[in-house]
Amino acid sequence: MIDFRKSVSERFIRYTQFDTMSDPSLAGVKRPTTDGQVVMQKALAKELEELGLEVSYGKESVVRGLVKANVPGVLPIGFMAHVDTADDVMGNGVKAQRHIYTGGDIVLNGGTVIRENENPSLSSYIGTEIITSDGTTLLGADDKAGAAEIMEAVRYLVEHPEIKHGDIEVFFTPDEETGAGMDQFPYHEQISKVCYTMDGGAEGEIESECFNAASVIISIHGVSTHLGSARGKLVNALTVASAISMTIPHSESPEATDERYGYYHVGEIKGTHVEAQMEIFIRDFDSDSFDFRISAVKELAQAVGNIYHARVEVSVKISYRNMALANAKHPEAIEAVMNAGKELGLEFFPALIRGGTDGARMAEKAGVPCPNLFTGGHNYHSLEEWVSVEVMSRSVNMILAIIDYQVKNRK
Ligand SMILES: [Zn+2]
Repeated sequence: MIDFRKSVSERFIRYTQFDTMSDPSLAGVKRPTTDGQVVMQKALAKELEELGLEVSYGKESVVRGLVKANVPGVLPIGFMAHVDTADDVMGNGVKAQRHIYTGGDIVLNGGTVIRENENPSLSSYIGTEIITSDGTTLLGADDKAGAAEIMEAVRYLVEHPEIKHGDIEVFFTPDEETGAGMDQFPYHEQISKVCYTMDGGAEGEIESECFNAASVIISIHGVSTHLGSARGKLVNALTVASAISMTIPHSESPEATDERYGYYHVGEIKGTHVEAQMEIFIRDFDSDSFDFRISAVKELAQAVGNIYHARVEVSVKISYRNMALANAKHPEAIEAVMNAGKELGLEFFPALIRGGTDGARMAEKAGVPCPNLFTGGHNYHSLEEWVSVEVMSRSVNMILAIIDYQVKNRK
């Protein structure tokens, strides 16, 4: 295995110094939502250009770089990371700290403590280097560890032209944390047939399955009359909305489920007694069960509307689909990762995401399978965030091994 500890950690710390906290309140209004992201994206574009890549940074606000193939017939693959950081805690002004971990709790400024008993995986990194913030901000390993790992792999390929590879595409996207990251994407430029987000966490976790996700929007039209003479005539849209809400099984809510169980979640009820709107989120790993949940909500909403003599309109918005569907059509995406684990002597295991990823959006939109790979980071979106330098180095090796797999299996 190649030792990237020094180069990837220095690069990562440099990236943490960009103030790229995104702003969910501006999602869909301004892209990227914060100007710091543009500063970092321009810096990344410059780094890619200096490495000799073909680079574009167009109206979608996504940096794309291409390392051209030096051998024919190899499947083009891509790697993707997001430049923004979450706003759950302060994400700007990060002062990264290096520690050689010797066991026990890690005490940082401002009363922030990374506790050994809350971080069982810490013990496997005793005697090695980990990086934290100074305790007053998040660290931003989510997802600057991913960005640094991709960049290091690209640098290594460019500096070692003797290594054979196909077309390697890299993408640096904005605003992942706001949910708007993939609202625009340079699909017209994309050539990769398999892509990987470097946006996972603990070592070995290969996330190839996520929820199917939909929103069911229900519009309820009540009947308004003078309240003094409403008997037998008035239909209260809010009463209907709460009656529909009561039909949603509480045992199948997010707060009652975990692992592979899907759920219904009433996310919003708004309006007046005349007109009301409600939004119900549906999540399920299984496609049949997902479709069943959608039709169940539609039918329940209509049935309740009928009971109350209210006119009800239902529309469905599919947000993303379980990327396992796209992965199943292209088993080479996961095969390449599992093979990389074997080559490197590392233990990789599949993990479920009870949510979506930018990769799931790509799989849905472009049919390109896009599993999410580990970066070595932990405790994302918090003051206790940390990343293992050893694992960052191993992640770069994983990227290179995936690239190599495609060469060995070229058509
Ligand atoms: Zn992330």
